[in-house]
Amino acid sequence: MPDIIHLLPDNVANQIAAGEVVQRPASVVKELLENAIDAGATQVILIVKEAGRNLIQVVDNGIGMSVTDARMAFERHATSKISKTEDIFHIQTKGFRGEALASISAVAQVELKTKKNEEEIGTHVVIEGGEFITQKPINTATGTVFLVKNLFFNVPARRKFLKSNSVELRHILDEFHRVALAHETVQFQLFNNEEELFRLRSGGVLQRISEIFGRKIQHQLIPVSEQLEWIRLSGFIGKPESAKKIRGEQFFFVNYRFFKSNYLNKAVQDAFENLIPSKYLPSFFIYIEIDPEKIDVNIHPTKTEIKFEDESSIYMLLRTTIKKSLGVYNVAPSLDFDQ
Ligand code: ADP
Ligand code: MG
Repeated sequence: MPDIIHLLPDNVANQIAAGEVVQRPASVVKELLENAIDAGATQVILIVKEAGRNLIQVVDNGIGMSVTDARMAFERHATSKISKTEDIFHIQTKGFRGEALASISAVAQVELKTKKNEEEIGTHVVIEGGEFITQKPINTATGTVFLVKNLFFNVPARRKFLKSNSVELRHILDEFHRVALAHETVQFQLFNNEEELFRLRSGGVLQRISEIFGRKIQHQLIPVSEQLEWIRLSGFIGKPESAKKIRGEQFFFVNYRFFKSNYLNKAVQDAFENLIPSKYLPSFFIYIEIDPEKIDVNIHPTKTEIKFEDESSIYMLLRTTIKKSLGVYNVAPSLDFDQ
């Protein structure tokens, strides 16, 4: 009997792996924005057409890539961000798996234009469905431009299951908000079908929040801040009377990375005990800075779940800090809530 096991060709393996990383246009947006941040960009432009179905373009003024790196970037497990096991426990960058570009290019038509500052001429790579098409010199500004066209053009089942443009755009906006809130000193622009939806200037967290959610929100926020030897908490919580029944602006960041945590959500709700009805949610923008060794960002492919070494201490600290802020602002417990 002949042996029957063989290694899958790269493009097949990448397309399978893409299932985890690239669920919808918003996943591409997240990965490209994070790469721009990791490249040290101070200006990032996101352009989408048809809610990312036809085009997702990210332009950054970061460090750019060399001719060889521009090809390597699309290989699976190819990264400039870590090189040895220990590095996984000191992650300072958004990315480190070296999977995003391999996955995205397996399920879309991708163009990359990039140039490093010290080079005269840039390079232009075209990859479609994981197949390398061309690489040529190009005149382009320092930094990187990614064009991701016709997402899932070669995976009709996935393309068909994309939701309506308004739903997909909602997901894109969520990712955009998360990255923009985590990096308030970076300028961001967002265009959808040529319409400018956001132009965010470099500034502080409060300015960023109000540029995204409207000026009105500024008056509804109370600052939160605490610094201990092992952790720093900062950010804002919504005044109790601005709490809503529906999920709204609830954001946790750790070391400038957005994450979700039902456990820490409860710490916030706990702090608002008796101030808001039980089904209401306060808005919050909580930034945690902690030694990267004390967290594990490697438990989820999209890295939105984080494992903390000492979760219960963070819970207690968060609750106490928020209670203190609420106390300082001396908010009356019974106020009118709009239904
Ligand atoms: P990761 O971000 O996990 O390293 P990616 O597949 O997202 O993996 O990217 C692979 C590599 O390509 C990165 O490590 C980086 O060196 C390079 N790269 C990707 N995007 C950019 C960018 N916008 N500017 C400069 N380099 C980039
Ligand atoms: Mg990346």
